Amino acid sequence: MGICMDQVTFAKVVVDVPGLLALSYKVPPGDKPEVGMRCVVPVGRREMVGMIVELSQQCEFDPAKVKPYRQLLGEVGPVNDEWLAMTRFAADYYQHSWGEVAMANLPSFFRAKPRPQYLKSLERLRATKASKRLVKADVPPVLNKEQQSAVEAVVEHCGFGPFVLHGVTGSGKTEVYLHIMAEVLQRNPLAQILFLVPEINLTPQLQSRILQRFADRAVVSLHSGLSAGERARSWLAVHEGRAQILVGTRMAVFANIPHLDLIIVDEEHDLSYKAGDGIRYSARDLAVKRAHLAKIPIVLGSATPSIESWAKVKSGHYRVLTLRERAVKSAVLPNLELVDPRVDKVHKGLCSRVIRAVEQALSRQEQVIVFLNRRGYAPVLTCPSCGWLSTCPHCSTYSVYHKSNGRLICHHCGWSTPVMHHCPDCGNADLTPVGAGTQRLEETLAELWPQARILRIDRDTTQRKDSAQKAFEAVHAGEVDILVGTQMVAKGHDFQRVSTVIVLNVDSQLASANPRSQERAFANLMQVAGRAGRAGLSSKILVQTRFGDRPMFEALGRQSYEMFADDLLKERQSEGAVPFVSQALLMADASHINLALEFLTQAARLGEQIAESMPGCDVMVFDPIPMALMRVADKERAQLLVEAPSKGSLNVFLRQWYRALLAVKTNAHWVMEVDPMDV
Ligand code: ADP
Ligand code: ZN
Ligand code: ZN
Repeated sequence: MGICMDQVTFAKVVVDVPGLLALSYKVPPGDKPEVGMRCVVPVGRREMVGMIVELSQQCEFDPAKVKPYRQLLGEVGPVNDEWLAMTRFAADYYQHSWGEVAMANLPSFFRAKPRPQYLKSLERLRATKASKRLVKADVPPVLNKEQQSAVEAVVEHCGFGPFVLHGVTGSGKTEVYLHIMAEVLQRNPLAQILFLVPEINLTPQLQSRILQRFADRAVVSLHSGLSAGERARSWLAVHEGRAQILVGTRMAVFANIPHLDLIIVDEEHDLSYKAGDGIRYSARDLAVKRAHLAKIPIVLGSATPSIESWAKVKSGHYRVLTLRERAVKSAVLPNLELVDPRVDKVHKGLCSRVIRAVEQALSRQEQVIVFLNRRGYAPVLTCPSCGWLSTCPHCSTYSVYHKSNGRLICHHCGWSTPVMHHCPDCGNADLTPVGAGTQRLEETLAELWPQARILRIDRDTTQRKDSAQKAFEAVHAGEVDILVGTQMVAKGHDFQRVSTVIVLNVDSQLASANPRSQERAFANLMQVAGRAGRAGLSSKILVQTRFGDRPMFEALGRQSYEMFADDLLKERQSEGAVPFVSQALLMADASHINLALEFLTQAARLGEQIAESMPGCDVMVFDPIPMALMRVADKERAQLLVEAPSKGSLNVFLRQWYRALLAVKTNAHWVMEVDPMDV
């Protein structure tokens, strides 16, 4: 590109190494690299695949000492400027090197050094066309007024436009997405669409709705359930413009999408958009950044938007589009009943009102969902004679009793052991399970209603591929009377005959000190409530709780997210809490808590020095503390919070601080998380 070939050209290349800036290499004569192509480069004694981010005739180093890169991987075209800008932004924002963000998020096929059969493999990846399917295209329903104006607002918008599509489950949000997508594809035959879904929500249901609606378009997906080959294939199909719709979980936000014209983020409040390891990015936030860079609209849909997005609606940065009615006219909102276990009689964990409600539903041949966010049989096993408890030897928590396979299993580190028949401390033969998980609940329900067909759905029953899908199909087919399960049950499934929803054990979440647990509990409850009353049955949701006087239940009863969120924002603003401040968390773990705390104490001191040396710096450095769950898998963990009134000032501080931390010698392992979800 305008570079005269008889001159030596230099390529700046970023590689997946922490703290490393772009490295300079000579371009071998005859090569025609472009910015955004990959090449193999020597790094110290290693060879790595990196991304070319700059080409120039000059080099700041002695050209004689600059090595040539080893091999240009030019058979795959370059990623575009928007992708480079987005990864660069993410690197800067989340405190990683550009190369870490750029390379670590490519499918392994594109980040690994080419194997001998590289070109053949590449051909094979291309050969399997994103298939055009021979399915009967479905006929889109006529939108109601609210849906129609939501669609119009988005498609008539020019340039960057962040929209929050807010509507309860069943209000027709997905239908709005599909119409916007259709319009975008109709206007621009080359257009590409990124459709992000939460980890757990990649249901065949949604996928097949998209496939059916866009039967003549190439649709591909990217998620952790795919093999390396499938991921590479999807990535390439999008990269080369052959696929027009990319449906994927958070990793899909790193696809290079040359003709990106629209982004949709379904269930935008979902926690799985935040990466829990590696580069701890928020796919939702990066999606907004991408829309901004690409100057396109983005639709963030949810029945319970994240408090961050709601704050942006209130400040006028995002525009809200509201769907107030349920799309299907016969659907009704469920009645909320609060049941206090201190007042009502409790039988094996179930209040008598709950038992009666189940009975009534069963007698009318309606379906019931009983929701308990705790899998296993009992959260702990104890010895009544000496007080022994089934602690995990590797974590500061209990191992959970699983009756179905007769084991004690730690849900944090995975440690497990056959359940013992005698107390390991005193030999007593009567070990007692305390509390109930979904397995025990299933047992109780079967005792109460032996004639009912009961199905349990949780991570333990759905480990085999497709087993969750099969289970949900059984519910749809009416082969199940009572469905018992964890939050898995609540997500995105459109059950027709459910009239009664029971929620047990929200209290542990409501009693939690984590400031986010309120919004999570509310989002969960709204979602669960949305499972009822879809097909005209009058329906109810019973919540068994000691916290029935909390204002959030009034909001829940009216199914008013606005009421809940507006209250919460006021509270947060007066407390100076997120999202009115920005945070980062430095987490350290080591064989002993003292090592972790020592490192963090030093980090805090460095942070304070940096803050003092920066004129007008408004960053607060808190004291290091052990984490609430201190020990996991034999690692003892502590954390250090820093906070600032704005993202900008926090970012400037973090950059300096991070560099200083890289120089600290410690045996503790540490990571930094920007915008942490659990503090
Ligand atoms: P959400 O995504 O908000 O949960 P959906 O888009 O899945 O809502 O809509 C719920 C149900 O209503 C679906 O079965 C859908 O096909 C149907 N639906 C949505 N919009 C309409 C409409 N305008 N007319 C008729 N049915 C509709
Ligand atoms: Zn004992
Ligand atoms: Zn453990």
